[in-house]
Amino acid sequence: MNKVLIIYTGGTIGMASDPETGSLIPLDFAHLSAQIPELKQMNIELGVESFTKPIDSSNISPKNWIDIAAFIQDKSAEYDGFVLLHGTDTMSYTAAALSFLLKDLHKPVILTGSQLPIGTIRTDGKENLITAIEIAGTKDGSIPMVPEVCIYFETQLFRGNRTRKYNSENFDAFQSPNYPVLADAGIDINYHYAYIANFTPPIEKFKASFSNEVAILKIFPGMDLSMLDYLAASKTVKGIVLESFGAGNAPSNNAFIEKLANISAKNIPIVNITQCYGGPVVQGKYETSIKLKELGVISGHDLSTEAACIKLMFALGQEKDLSFIRNFFNQSIVGECTL
Ligand code: ASP
Repeated sequence: MNKVLIIYTGGTIGMASDPETGSLIPLDFAHLSAQIPELKQMNIELGVESFTKPIDSSNISPKNWIDIAAFIQDKSAEYDGFVLLHGTDTMSYTAAALSFLLKDLHKPVILTGSQLPIGTIRTDGKENLITAIEIAGTKDGSIPMVPEVCIYFETQLFRGNRTRKYNSENFDAFQSPNYPVLADAGIDINYHYAYIANFTPPIEKFKASFSNEVAILKIFPGMDLSMLDYLAASKTVKGIVLESFGAGNAPSNNAFIEKLANISAKNIPIVNITQCYGGPVVQGKYETSIKLKELGVISGHDLSTEAACIKLMFALGQEKDLSFIRNFFNQSIVGECTL
């Protein structure tokens, strides 16, 4: 029998209403498992570990990511796959972070959760959890079927670092705008083999470290440019994710470019991604991105905001050196972008 370890961090799936405030608060795993007797009937041996105090995922931190990854590494000889129960709000960030931390694991780490708590009649949590376990425990011969970090949600399996929470209400809360789904679950689970773990991570060993000295700058027409002065003057900002327009465009007027140049002059990496929901940046396609390219702004290709932020936090956690960061973003380390 294949063995899967469920790691419960919190999130709506295990929440219930606080009688005093009426707000949803996380409960322990015993509450959750009592609602799913099906877990005992699965043809997969299950282990369970839980955060001592389950959390709403808005409170997740880089320390949590590092601890979870270390824990999974520790248990990797014992288990064939892992299911991480996690709140949906920041699930895409955690999935991206784990994909970098666990680049050499080559085992399924499937994140899931739900939009409705497991104790409610129309909950989406049961199906999400049961199918996530099945995927984590499935092998193709002796090799795990999906040896990468994924999110399973509402019948679809996604590469984790490509996902975005796109809807706060629908059961299908996640999408992967720039990469195909890895599997669809209907009567059978249909795996789309061509897209699964089709990257070769670099052999280089990375530190389990994230820097929080990152800012995300979303531009908009008519914005007050003094914001750029704050960033240039900041002692704590060591890297910027620039959410530009369309295919990577930004105002081409001198005031904007000069202020951006002041940031660049301090060797602060600026990573250009699109504020569109999907699609890549192509610096130089329009005149309005040529100057960015000339300033040395780094292309973020088709990284999502979540993955770009995590990739920059991780890169700065390794080295602050600009050429290292540039080189890091010119690679798809764990399938997070298309070059
Ligand atoms: N606020 C919850 C969380 O992210 C939402 C959810 O789980 O869907 O923890």
